[in-house]
Amino acid sequence: MARLNGNFLKLESGYLFPEIAKRTRAWQERNPGKKVLRLGIGNTTEALTPFITRAMHEKINLLSERSTYTGYGDEQGDSALRNALSAFYRSEYGVELTPDCFFISDGAKSDAANIQELFSPDSVVAITDPSYPVYVDSNVAGGKSGRFNGTNYDGFIYMEGNAGNGFIPKVPDKHADLIYLCSPNNPTGAVFTYDQLKSFVDYALREKAVIIFDAAYSDYIREPGYPHTIYEIDGAERCAIEINSFSKNAGFTGVRLGWSIVPRTLETEDGIPSEVHRLWNRRQTTFFNGASNIAQAGGLAALSEEGRAECRGLVDYYLENARIIRSGLESVNLTCFGGINSPYVWARTKADMPSWEFFDYLLEKAHVVVTPGSGFGPSGEGYVRLSSYGHREDITEAVESIVRHIND
Ligand code: PLP
Repeated sequence: MARLNGNFLKLESGYLFPEIAKRTRAWQERNPGKKVLRLGIGNTTEALTPFITRAMHEKINLLSERSTYTGYGDEQGDSALRNALSAFYRSEYGVELTPDCFFISDGAKSDAANIQELFSPDSVVAITDPSYPVYVDSNVAGGKSGRFNGTNYDGFIYMEGNAGNGFIPKVPDKHADLIYLCSPNNPTGAVFTYDQLKSFVDYALREKAVIIFDAAYSDYIREPGYPHTIYEIDGAERCAIEINSFSKNAGFTGVRLGWSIVPRTLETEDGIPSEVHRLWNRRQTTFFNGASNIAQAGGLAALSEEGRAECRGLVDYYLENARIIRSGLESVNLTCFGGINSPYVWARTKADMPSWEFFDYLLEKAHVVVTPGSGFGPSGEGYVRLSSYGHREDITEAVESIVRHIND
């Protein structure tokens, strides 16, 4: 008889977004004809840009001619794209990473979930709290946690973010093998400074741990003083894997294209040089058949000068939305974090309400949907996340509604 994987059975049901949808639906039924204003979703809304779109059209034209058609490409990704990424890190951040460190994928989510497979099930996993849920869930499914204890999973080290530390936790006070960091952070919008990130790199080198660094929002960093890639920190090439994608800067959430960087210099306890790189290569070439060639043509265009300028324009648009959200909320005395080098504003609830109570309050009074912070981990309780992904007119309408009705 087929038996189920008990690790998957340990996963708590995906409670956050279904519950938001359920409560929103119920409100809509009670309030027919009224408009729901959405600040809850981390999904891009603006159109693909012209230069990048043209590159994808041209690729489709090549595919539609017998003489220029191509099928499967390299599982690790198109070499032109890997070369362009390597050149991009050099010119933009002064970081040397050879093209063979870059593995092209269908997005950061898959890589963030899959990378844990390379590491032993008895690895001690440290995760920031609150966090993007994929890090927790993939490690539960990968057998690296105990049971859910009603608040969180036994066996993980939760690194608490709070108002006191600006949602940038300190390194764990005990040993961890794998450490997940995300900067700029989803959901809190917090960004690691050089010194803060260096403390994690130093810890990882000391403990022979590996950092999984999710840089999916790196293009939103506009102020100086914050690293865009962990490889700006000395020693990171020996202890860090970085994950990124074209979703949030080029609007590829639906097109699907990302990359991971696995340096050959990465060290693990067993100390065999290049072993993690070799295993990730083995994993990807076995379980993955390469990213879409049309998407990769778009990614290559996104890294060109014209493409970079277009992506900058897109990110500027969402950053202005974030500014509008944050200044609106602050005008009614809600305490806000993030939203400056990040598309997300992380706001303290009114009068210390629990996250879900404030969710209901904003829906009832202002007709606005936000994301309850407690859905990202226990330390998110008492906060909500507001997303800048929306058309300007919708964002403005939602913020104005909160401002008008917050004290109803
Ligand atoms: N990492 C973080 C922190 C995210 O917030 C998201 C998406 O919202 C992803 C990764 C996934 O991005 P992708 O669309 O590249 O899979």
